Amino acid sequence: MLEQLHQMTSALGVELSSDQLDQFRRYKLGLEAWNQRVNLTSQKALERIEQVHFLDSLSLIPVLRHWAPDAQRVVDVGAGAGFPGVPIKLVLPHLHLVLVEATQKKADFLVWLVGELGLGEVEVVVRRAEDTARLSQYRESFDVVTARALGPLPVALELTLPLSRVGGVVVIPQRGDVASEIRRSTLTLDELGGKVVAVASVSTDGLPQDSVAVVVKKEILTPERYPRRVGIPSKRPLITAL
Ligand code: SAH
Repeated sequence: MLEQLHQMTSALGVELSSDQLDQFRRYKLGLEAWNQRVNLTSQKALERIEQVHFLDSLSLIPVLRHWAPDAQRVVDVGAGAGFPGVPIKLVLPHLHLVLVEATQKKADFLVWLVGELGLGEVEVVVRRAEDTARLSQYRESFDVVTARALGPLPVALELTLPLSRVGGVVVIPQRGDVASEIRRSTLTLDELGGKVVAVASVSTDGLPQDSVAVVVKKEILTPERYPRRVGIPSKRPLITAL
């Protein structure tokens, strides 16, 4: 498994050291063990974890290198079992990473994982993104905000844009009809101060061909009223009528 991960990530310009490969090995073992008790990922995904979780997360590295070369503070919203935030941290260890996860049991796994992998400069915040974005130490403070599988694009953007500093980027992996998701997000982008600056292909050997990352630049401060209170972004998304 490790040899395969090493090869696949080389194609992304990421050369994993033997220590890093060992961290990925321990990540996989830990996830397999915890997944017996806590629903962190599907069995099917576990069987192909190198591609489905590790490579898929690391496919964002070239995007970060291009769009946020000097990034220091990164937040992963709705981190679940740590994707994509933790693999990114393993490759870019200088980053200060905040993992926001609403579910206590998943956050427990993240805290365990951070210890197991010996990671410094990682915070696990057990809170909804709507509430996290109201805390002054987090609001508009991040160079990069990521969120994988957090919800439809307009929802993910309402939950992420308030955390980005002005000039920072929100990076959301997507598949399928991305153009239509972006069109549906026009109102959210306008309201929260974001602008799509790229739809970058992140496809590589081992990932579906339609894998992209939507890169949104935060251009102006997000008004205080966003994000709306807990649950509202997903219940009543700010969707552009088409
Ligand atoms: N990013 C991970 C998990 C995706 S599932 C991955 O791609 O594998 C979405 C995760 O977001 C779940 O763990 C869920 O508990 C969390 N979540 C959903 N809404 C949230 C919110 N408003 N604030 C914080 N976490 C949230």
